[in-house]
Amino acid sequence: MARRRQLYEGKAKILFEGPEPGTLVQYFKDDATAFNAQKKGTITGKGVLNNRISEFLMIKLAEINIPTHFIRRLNMREQLIKEVEIIPVEVVVRNIAAGSLSSRLGIPEGTRLPRSIVEYYYKNDQLGDPMVAEEHITAFGWATPPDMDDIVHLTLRINDFLTGLFLGVGITLVDFKIEFGRLFENEDMRIVLADEISPDNCRLWDSKTNEKMDKDRFRRDLGKIEEAYQEVARRLGILPEAGTRDMKGPEMMQ
Ligand code: UDP
Repeated sequence: MARRRQLYEGKAKILFEGPEPGTLVQYFKDDATAFNAQKKGTITGKGVLNNRISEFLMIKLAEINIPTHFIRRLNMREQLIKEVEIIPVEVVVRNIAAGSLSSRLGIPEGTRLPRSIVEYYYKNDQLGDPMVAEEHITAFGWATPPDMDDIVHLTLRINDFLTGLFLGVGITLVDFKIEFGRLFENEDMRIVLADEISPDNCRLWDSKTNEKMDKDRFRRDLGKIEEAYQEVARRLGILPEAGTRDMKGPEMMQ
């Protein structure tokens, strides 16, 4: 394969120039970080599973007319995406109390929230992704009020849809983080879902046992991380054909 120009390397993914203008290749690594990269590790096969899981969820969301950056999966670890201008805001939706909500507000983990709560965090590693209000986002021009209307509307639809989809396979969607970007096509600009949706950025609990099936297994040293990610893929019916035999996937092309 031709050498590709690397545009950006994040904690769990690398972005390469795509084959055509306006496209990028998103490569999923096995690297895992937590607590603003203070904790680092590798989860064998994670990239392959997240590539698959995110592909599946993005396709399902597109089927209900949620615009996304996803074009198609290229191989075990890579997907072709549309180039967007990322809005520097992490959007978190919570259905059940966990993680930082529980620790900040003293609400026991596992408490069902009276309604879904949407929170915003400013994407800035140096500042540790501080929580911000919509006021900050619009005042500092990270997104406009109409952008925010689209983002909230899409986020609530995504939450409802994914909650039902996971419930159907015996998984409770506790909370998750998504990101949006601006897609420029001709003279138009549209807000689209970007980044990924995977057990790296969702809290997924087994509906019967409440066992954690997500990155909290890494954050909290609970072990059986690969197995948990694999189980999510298995329940969604998308375990890679090679099963666990070839979870490493092809070597990265550069
Ligand atoms: N999350 C994420 N990236 C971040 C912070 C949070 O994907 O940088 C996800 C996390 O996996 C969880 C949700 O957002 O599903 C809420 O995370 P929380 O605020 O509770 O923070 P945490 O406890 O993970 O530090």
